[in-house]
Amino acid sequence: KKIVIAIDGYSSCGKSTTAKAVAAELGYAYIDTGAMYRAVTLYLLEHDIAFDNLPQVEQALHEMHISFKRNRKTGRNELCLDGQIREDEIRQMRISNLVSEVSSIPAVRHAMVAQQQRMGRKRGVVMDGRDIGTTVFPDAEVKVFMTAEVLTRAERRQEELAVKGEQVAVEEIVENLRKRDHLDSTRTESPLRRATDAVLLDTTHMMIDEQVDFVLERVSA
Ligand code: C5P
Repeated sequence: KKIVIAIDGYSSCGKSTTAKAVAAELGYAYIDTGAMYRAVTLYLLEHDIAFDNLPQVEQALHEMHISFKRNRKTGRNELCLDGQIREDEIRQMRISNLVSEVSSIPAVRHAMVAQQQRMGRKRGVVMDGRDIGTTVFPDAEVKVFMTAEVLTRAERRQEELAVKGEQVAVEEIVENLRKRDHLDSTRTESPLRRATDAVLLDTTHMMIDEQVDFVLERVSA
């Protein structure tokens, strides 16, 4: 029987790396919900829409088209905005600095949650984000809540950015992670929090393979 695996937690704890590997292992689809909020942010910036202009934000949500396209070479799911792959742009610091403000807009959340529920309706999916186990799929069969020390997270994120040619000081990343975690946990609409039935996974001293095994053990249990 195909199930839903919800992986939530703080920014840069290794959620997507873990979720991707679990999905590959099970032959499940992987959906990175953070990429969708990043895409909304990119769209609003590129169309010069102020985040507090609710009618325009709502109109934009109707007009933008967010999807994932499988890259045959890498086997990865890449985020597409209006049919264009925008994977690199959405990971840039300028988006990371604004995305939590955008994701706190209730209209944005309603649109994204509805699309995520449609994408996962056949189950057989690993979804990572902040509110998957609480709001998107409260009935997910496996729920994991990931955390790690902030410096470890920042160092990992710094490496990811460096690979893509963006050099950012670790202090700046720490500040961004703290700010996002705070905004994400304190917003009114589906804030980041551990579902009561989610298992806690602290990845500070863990290798990726151990994290993947931890989740897979929950699946077979
Ligand atoms: O996972 P990632 O760090 O790419 O997510 C970027 C931002 O998107 C988060 O900081 C949060 O503001 C928002 N987000 C959310 N709900 C989700 C996934 C991401 O609010 N399910």
